[in-house]
Amino acid sequence: MHENARARDGVREVSIIGGGTAGWMTAAALARLIAPLGVKVRLIESDAIGTVGVGEATLPHIRFFNERLGIDEAEFMAATQATIKLGIEFRGWGREGDSYIHPFGDYGREAGGVAFHQLWRRLHAEGKAGRICDYSLPVVMAEQDRFAPPAADPRSVMSSFSYAYQMDATLYARFLRAFAEGLGVERVEGRIVDAALVPDTDHVDHVILEDGRRIGGDLFVDCSGFRGLLIEGALKAGYEDWSDVLPCDRAVAVPCDSAGPPSPYTRATARKAGWQWRIPLQHRLGNGYVYCSDHIGDQEAADDLLSCLDAAPQAEPRFLRFRTGRRRRQWVGNTVALGLSAGFLEPLESTSIYLIQAGITTLVELFPEGPVDPLDAAEFDRVMALEYERVRDFLVLHYFATERDDSPFWDRVRTMAIPDSLSHKMELFRRRGSVVQYKDGLFLEPSWLAVYLGQRVVPEGHDPLADRMPLDKAERYLAELRSQIRRTVDALPRHEDFLKRHCPAAAA
Ligand SMILES: Cc1cc2nc3c(=O)[nH]c(=O)nc-3n(C[C@H](O)[C@H](O)[C@H](O)COP(=O)(O)OP(=O)(O)OC[C@H]3O[C@@H](n4cnc5c(N)ncnc54)[C@H](O)[C@@H]3O)c2cc1C
Repeated sequence: MHENARARDGVREVSIIGGGTAGWMTAAALARLIAPLGVKVRLIESDAIGTVGVGEATLPHIRFFNERLGIDEAEFMAATQATIKLGIEFRGWGREGDSYIHPFGDYGREAGGVAFHQLWRRLHAEGKAGRICDYSLPVVMAEQDRFAPPAADPRSVMSSFSYAYQMDATLYARFLRAFAEGLGVERVEGRIVDAALVPDTDHVDHVILEDGRRIGGDLFVDCSGFRGLLIEGALKAGYEDWSDVLPCDRAVAVPCDSAGPPSPYTRATARKAGWQWRIPLQHRLGNGYVYCSDHIGDQEAADDLLSCLDAAPQAEPRFLRFRTGRRRRQWVGNTVALGLSAGFLEPLESTSIYLIQAGITTLVELFPEGPVDPLDAAEFDRVMALEYERVRDFLVLHYFATERDDSPFWDRVRTMAIPDSLSHKMELFRRRGSVVQYKDGLFLEPSWLAVYLGQRVVPEGHDPLADRMPLDKAERYLAELRSQIRRTVDALPRHEDFLKRHCPAAAA
C-alpha cells in the first residue's frame, strides 16, 4: 500500500510520543479542544527513560493556556508548589554589580500620544527623572515582595502588569496527566524502539515498542525530548545550529532548601562562563548554572553553583547537555515536533514552555479537517520559525549588550557577530529610542526596553514629540505616576500571604 488510507479520511487518531511537559501539555490541550470532534488521543511514554523536568519559570501566557483548558488556578498552583512570577531580575549583565528587573508589564503610561519611555528619556537626560523601573508597578511589587492579581479596569494602575508562575514542571506534567486521562486520553507505557513509514512517503505509519507492540496513528506529535525520535530519528528534519550566537551548551541543576519567603521573581546572575538561575517555589529553591563548556569544566561549574546556594542542597547536582537551535522543519508528513524535540533555546527568558504552548495553539488552529496537508505543515513551520528567531534575537541581546570583559566567555559574546535582524533593532534604538514593533512574536516593547536600558544601551536622543509637553508639566506627570505606584504597592498583601490564602501547597 503506497498511500496512507487513514490520512485520506482525515485524522481520527493522534499518537503523542513522550510524556514530559510537552507531551502532557499537548495531550491535555488536544483532549479538551480536539477530542470532542471525535478524535482519539493517546500518549506513549517510558518511565524507564524519564523526563528533563527542570522547566520551572514560565511566562504569563501559561495562564491563558490553563484557562482555555478550564484549569482552576488555585488548584494548579497548590498541585505544582507554584509561586507568582512578576519578572526576572538580571544581576551583573551590563557590568558587574548592575541589576535590573525585566517585568511582565508596562513602564509608565503614554501621555499625549508620546511613548512613556521617550518622555522619561528626555527628563532623565536632564537629571529630572528616577530609574525607569520606578515607573513600573510590577518592578516595585517584585522589589517589595508584594502581590495582588491585576485589575480589569484599564484606568487602574493595577491593570498595567501581568504575571506568570514559578512551578515544579514535573508536578505540572503529573497534574496535566491526571487532567488528560480524566478526559479520556489513553496512556501507553513502553519504550519505542523503531518507527515504520508508509512506504515511499514521509508519513509515519506506526511505532514499534520494545515488547513488539505496534501503535499507529493518523497524526503523530513527537514530544520525545532532545532525541527527536520521529522528527529526526525517522524523518531527518535537520537541525539549525545557533551555538555561534548562543554558545552555552550545558547546565547543572540542583534544588536547595528555601531561605526565607519566596520572592515573586526569578533571578538570573551572570557568572564567569554563563549565568545562574534561582527560582523560588513554595517548598524549595530551584538553582542551576547554564554554561559554555569551552570556558568551564563540569566539576568547576557544579562547585561554583554549590558555593553560592542560599541554603543546603536537597539533591546531587544534575548535568544536562544541549545544542542551541531549532529543527529545520517542525512538521514533516504527519509528524509535528513540540518541546525539546523541536529545538532548544536556553532558559534565560523562560521561553521553552511558551514555545510548546505556541506550537500547540498553532497545531489546534491548523488541525487537519481532512487529510494531513503539506500546506498546513508549511504554515506551521513559518509561524514557529518566526517565534524561535524572535526569542533567539532577544536572548542574544542579553549577551551582546554587555561591557563585561572579565573572562574569555564575556569577551567572546561581547564581540561576536550577531544576526542582522538584531543589529537593525539595536541601531534603531540607539539612534532615538525606537523599539521595533511586531505583529507576531513574543517580546513586546517593555521587554526590549528593560534589557536595553538595564544593560546600558542608551539612546542618543529622543522622539521630538516628547519635547511638546512643557518641562514642568512632564516632571509633575512622572512624579505623580511614581508616587501613585508606591502608594498602590504599599497597600498590597505580601506575596507569601497571598500564596497562603490563595493556593497553599501540601508540605513537600
Ligand atoms: C537546563 C534547563 C533549564 C530549563 N528551564 C526552563 C524554564 O525555566 N522554563 C521553561 O519554560 N523551560 C525550561 N526548560 C525547558 C523545559 O525543561 C522543557 O521544554 C520541557 O521540560 C519539555 O521537555 P519535553 O517534554 O520536550 O522533553 P522531556 O522532558 O525530555 O520528555 C521526553 C519524553 O519522551 C519520552 N521518550 C523519549 N524517548 C522515548 C522512547 N524511546 N520510548 C518512549 N518514550 C520515550 C520520555 O519518557 C519522556 O516522557 C529548561 C531546560 C533545560 C535543559
